[in-house]
Amino acid sequence: MIVGIDLGTTRSAIAVVEAGMAGLLADAEGERLLPSVVHYPKKGAPIAGWPAQRQRALDPARTIYSVKRFIGQRTGDVREAERQVDYTLTGNPLAVKLGEDSVSPEAVSAEILKSLKARAELVLETEINRAVITVPAYFNDAQRQATKRAGAEAGFTVERILNEPTAAALACGLEKLPEQARVAVYDLGGGTFDLSILELREGVFQVLATHGNTRLGGDDIDQRIVDWLLERIDVNPDASLRARVREAAEVAKVALSTETEVTIQLPFVLGDTSFECVLSREKLEALATPVIEQTRAHCRQALADAGVAAAELNQVILVGGQTRMPLVRRRVSEWFECAEYAETRGDIRLGDSFHETDGPTLNTSQNPDEAVALGAAIQGAILSGDIRDMVLLDVTPLSLGLETFGGLMNVIIPRNTTVPTKAGEMFTNAVDGQRQMLVHVLQGEREKAVDNWSLGKFELGFKSAKRGAARVGVQFEIDADGILHVLARDTATGHEKVVEMKSAVDVDDMAVQQMVEESVEHAFEDMDARKWIEAALKAREAVNAARGGLEEFADELQNADAIRTALDLVESALETENDLPTLKGAVAKLDEATLPLADLMMDRAMEAVLRQRGMLD
Ligand code: AMP
Repeated sequence: MIVGIDLGTTRSAIAVVEAGMAGLLADAEGERLLPSVVHYPKKGAPIAGWPAQRQRALDPARTIYSVKRFIGQRTGDVREAERQVDYTLTGNPLAVKLGEDSVSPEAVSAEILKSLKARAELVLETEINRAVITVPAYFNDAQRQATKRAGAEAGFTVERILNEPTAAALACGLEKLPEQARVAVYDLGGGTFDLSILELREGVFQVLATHGNTRLGGDDIDQRIVDWLLERIDVNPDASLRARVREAAEVAKVALSTETEVTIQLPFVLGDTSFECVLSREKLEALATPVIEQTRAHCRQALADAGVAAAELNQVILVGGQTRMPLVRRRVSEWFECAEYAETRGDIRLGDSFHETDGPTLNTSQNPDEAVALGAAIQGAILSGDIRDMVLLDVTPLSLGLETFGGLMNVIIPRNTTVPTKAGEMFTNAVDGQRQMLVHVLQGEREKAVDNWSLGKFELGFKSAKRGAARVGVQFEIDADGILHVLARDTATGHEKVVEMKSAVDVDDMAVQQMVEESVEHAFEDMDARKWIEAALKAREAVNAARGGLEEFADELQNADAIRTALDLVESALETENDLPTLKGAVAKLDEATLPLADLMMDRAMEAVLRQRGMLD
């Protein structure tokens, strides 16, 4: 049996398919969701879930929540604001400080997974050791790898890492939609947001595009409520008070999905002073609007990437606990012009003509915080052969490529390519007698290698050859888990290296969506940089060739001085660093000046061949 696990930022869940039915497994108290919280007592084993949640206010420094934001991340990847947690982060890659010791986000996640595993074994009365685990579509390779390691640490064989929106689509039984159906999955959880466009074709799901933010969600709304409350409480909060206020804020937010007003009470905030205030749904919506509005740009971008208009969608599926908030439903149905618009607005009665738009249906059929785990279980059942007639395809959220000579990014697998996939390219040596080639693997959308994320690098030795004579084949393979394997082979000797990309090294603090936005923002200057680097490489080649020729044939040339002048011009143009017209002009002059030299070299080469064949004396 392969279980499905939704390893969420704030909550996690485990599901199985039994007798063709997918269902979540509840704990002894009947709770289906497990808080993604782990408490490390000073003595004894860590505890996960509800008992840990209760320790958040009591022992905040040793109680870890939202660790999904840090899994597989290095210090520079996480913005300062994101590091505002009640425990202490340390080291690189990021870890959580616990007194003198530290614990990795993977180890914390493994505790959550162990707790889910124990729950499943108790309910199913059998040992469970195979799982499908979901991750946000925007997780990069390092984050996926780290999640897989967490699964292994918890005692699972991780059969697949599945994108959350794809799992949600599976849970909604989309295979029943008409051929060529297209759906959007709007997933707003505690700490992540994704908007994915999926297409169903002949029973196969394909992710056409995906866009989002790995650090945007319900937690941000909680934070706004916390700030609002702290302003009113007007005492300098310690970590414990902060944690209490945060807890109260979330409770109030959840209640306001069904109530129009709640009273927040915090006894003994300072000595024996207590605090009480009323929060209305209207006020909450005002606080939450900026957070919700941030998701809109991602919706637009995903539609644009997929080349699909909102009106062409059949459904918009809502996933993630935060989509229970009426404001979210209202906004999403407005943006996508959903048929349910009138109904969800609440102020227009069902049956009003306004209701009869032919836009997509807002699909809220699944419990938004259960859909992902159910979908993962369905995927597990497909893998174990319990369900046969469905196949799943995912896409790469960012382009993958190599750094080339000159510091440019050479894309091997473009963004939004369906995985699993394989692609390769031949490279050659840039210098005579070169014996090593640096394979530097990059992820991102920028033209210059330095602006992208570095996934790793390795050297491949090859047979020394003249410049341009060696052939090194590089192949990228992304497996069904979205994990990248890079193979480099010297075609002359067959010598090869295969490297599984593990960590994102030297990554700056850009989130994936920032990467995409910045690539759009810098599109022109990036293009200019690429043009300059390519032109400069060509110019240097021309300079080297002309210098070599001059050295050999200076005596026979009548215009040697003209060539030298043209060479100086190109070299000073190269020093301008970015004046492309001047460089091009100088190279054109050099080309013109070296015409007689080229003719001469051609004649000499021809003579050499003829002599070799005994046709000249
Ligand atoms: P998820 O990551 O999908 O478990 O979503 C968790 C987020 O959804 C947290 O920020 C919760 O506070 C939020 N959430 C859960 N239920 C509700 C609700 N009924 N109304 C508003 N937000 C909710």
